[in-house]
Amino acid sequence: MKSLKLCDTTLRDGEQAAGVSFTRAEKLEIAKLLSECGVEQAEVGIPAMGRREQEDIAAIAELGLPMKLMTWNRSTLGDIDKARSTGVNWAHVSIPVSDIQLQGKLGLTPLEGMNKLLRAAEYGLRQGMTVSVGMEDSSRADMKFLTQLVKTLYKEGIRRFRYADTVSAHHPGQMAGRIQTLLDAVPADVELEVHCHNDFGLAAANTLSGIAAGAVWASTTVAGIGERTGNAAMEEVAMAWRHLYGGECGVRLDLLKGLADMVIAASGRNVGDAKPIVGQLAFTHESGIHVDGLMKEKATYQTFDPAEVGRSHRFVLGKHSGSGGVAHVLEQRGLEVSPETAGRLLERVREYAEARKSNVPEVMLLQWLMEEQQRAQNAV
Ligand SMILES: [Zn+2]
Repeated sequence: MKSLKLCDTTLRDGEQAAGVSFTRAEKLEIAKLLSECGVEQAEVGIPAMGRREQEDIAAIAELGLPMKLMTWNRSTLGDIDKARSTGVNWAHVSIPVSDIQLQGKLGLTPLEGMNKLLRAAEYGLRQGMTVSVGMEDSSRADMKFLTQLVKTLYKEGIRRFRYADTVSAHHPGQMAGRIQTLLDAVPADVELEVHCHNDFGLAAANTLSGIAAGAVWASTTVAGIGERTGNAAMEEVAMAWRHLYGGECGVRLDLLKGLADMVIAASGRNVGDAKPIVGQLAFTHESGIHVDGLMKEKATYQTFDPAEVGRSHRFVLGKHSGSGGVAHVLEQRGLEVSPETAGRLLERVREYAEARKSNVPEVMLLQWLMEEQQRAQNAV
């Protein structure tokens, strides 16, 4: 069973999302929770952003968590100096690798870009830091150049390389093919990390595809918050890796919901009620057919046991409910009703749901039940 390693970047790419800003207390809390979940490594910020960011990163380092930490840096000696001042030993040193970004952003040829990266990486290594190389916009880079870059940096002692699908230029098949091709051309102990964005809703799919093709590390964020449409969501990658690929990631999945709630609240972001695994509606069922199936045999409509992520199925009443669902909701409150009463209540449930375009609060159902019971008494 292949175990993937998670390098969470909620505190770097997650905070890079428009309008997101974590306080120091929130950053410390997120770092503690990530570590408690068993995440192997966290990217915790960009020292070049200034003194406050550096102090925040240093405060996280001072927690002395068992989780490895990493800073994100451009390929300049100044950035490396700032990274070193934070006390975090892992320095991620990044350079664009596509022609369009190298020329358009930095005005460099590929060779000039590689030399710039080489100087910064060597400098970090000389300072006693562990360096990971970031290849920004890998998915639009020339494969020969990528291979040459990895081989050159490998000779300097770098073993970890991040393949970034910075602008969502891959579908899962392309990701698998490119990762495989790159791994075939470089020494066997190169560890690739895949970092994917979600502009087509494929961040998790591309990440999983890269891991299945041989990459070791998945770069993720909690609830997928990140630049533009976000990054691969940690919980989606971890759960799909376990259930669809038969792998593991060594993370306490039962703690994911608490971690996600905390991050979502601190980010001020609405990630949507239907967000997989951590969303309010992830295990909520209304349809009479589904509720009936689940009550008879969970496997009929259960993707995985929600208890695995510390959650449970929730049945709600609405336009698509059946009388079995109405009876079940009441039964959970210790109230037994006849099929006829359940049927009459169901009519009111549907009327209410259609008129208000919403689910029916249980308190309404209880009130209608009382009315039904009174009517029955009056009739006697
Ligand atoms: Zn990114």
